[in-house]
Amino acid sequence: MSLPSRCAEWPTSRLAIGGAARAELPRNPFELVDLQRRRVAYLRLSVTDRCNYRCSYCMPAQGVDVVPRAELLNFEEMTKLVRVFVQLGVRRVRLTGGEPLVRRGVVDLVQQLAAIPGLDDLAMTTNGHLLAELAEPLRKAGLQRLNISIDTLDPQKFAEVSRGGALPPVLDGIAAAQRAGFASIKLNAVTLRGLNDDALLPLCDFAAREKLVLRLIEYMPIGVDAHWGPETWMPVAQARARVSAAYALEPDDSGEIPGGGPARYWRGRHLQTGQELRVGFIAAVSEKFCETCNRVRLSATGTLRECLSTRGVLSLRDLLRAGATEVELTAAIRDALAGKVDGHHYDAAEPTLESMSAIGG
Ligand code: SAM
Ligand code: SF4
Repeated sequence: MSLPSRCAEWPTSRLAIGGAARAELPRNPFELVDLQRRRVAYLRLSVTDRCNYRCSYCMPAQGVDVVPRAELLNFEEMTKLVRVFVQLGVRRVRLTGGEPLVRRGVVDLVQQLAAIPGLDDLAMTTNGHLLAELAEPLRKAGLQRLNISIDTLDPQKFAEVSRGGALPPVLDGIAAAQRAGFASIKLNAVTLRGLNDDALLPLCDFAAREKLVLRLIEYMPIGVDAHWGPETWMPVAQARARVSAAYALEPDDSGEIPGGGPARYWRGRHLQTGQELRVGFIAAVSEKFCETCNRVRLSATGTLRECLSTRGVLSLRDLLRAGATEVELTAAIRDALAGKVDGHHYDAAEPTLESMSAIGG
């Protein structure tokens, strides 16, 4: 049995998807609005807990234990759950992991999800290692936007940070994505002092030259390792200061950059060459944005997570495999998310012990 679809007379929100304001009531009564009146409009779906890299800020050097394949959601289950989330007002889905491109058949999954009515935006975050071959099929299957992680342009440093990764295939992947015609391609770099702080300006120059948006991401204490400490942790204010050494920056409030996530964007102009740059800073810890959070996460094993900083609240896989109907799934999701936590407390040294790859970052 399916839920009634959106009624024509319900007012459409004045909130942009991913927008910063609180939800306005009354709204579509089937949409998810938590006790803080934050509307859940964005789902990050982990398609696998496996990864071909072991980035030093994401997981330990020896890697992490992966779950048996039978415990992962299959594509039919993922599609069914995304359909339920869309009924509940989710308009954007981002595929992540682990590394989404190591999941066999991921292009078929994209095709199934892209066909869901009401899903406005389907995106993926990838390390780009397998993108050279997959960019075009993914685009053709209906993937609209891509974020590609790249922490440095120094091949040796790249191999060190990613522990076994390699820069050339990622650069080839970026080029293939540009040729494939995605609606937007952004580059993601986690900033860590001593790890890649000297790589930020070369990354800016690369992004400016390639006309790609660069996002510099503050390290979050997840999977807790040696990076969480005053020697390595770098607040975005410092990353911005480094960029300012070569680029004149001014806030970009144009709203032109698609995605509407937590990044604050700036326009840069190179002080010598005049080359233009679009750069976003994600300050999850130093300038946390929990009060405008519009997202939830679904792990590769089907666990619903209201916040990166908390444990999963519900196994949707177990419900599905026990034969739950869409109505029952909807009720369970609504119950689980009604009390979505008001925010994380990483600033008070409260780390999450699971790795980002296992959670689905
Ligand atoms: N494997 C894909 C990738 O690396 O793009 C997708 C999954 S990865 C967990 C998603 C994003 O989380 C990447 O941009 C990665 O750099 C970022 N990330 C991983 N661990 C992080 C941490 N502890 N703090 C902040 N960002 C992190
Ligand atoms: Fe893998 Fe992405 Fe984590 Fe790196 S950040 S180890 S590529 S999941």
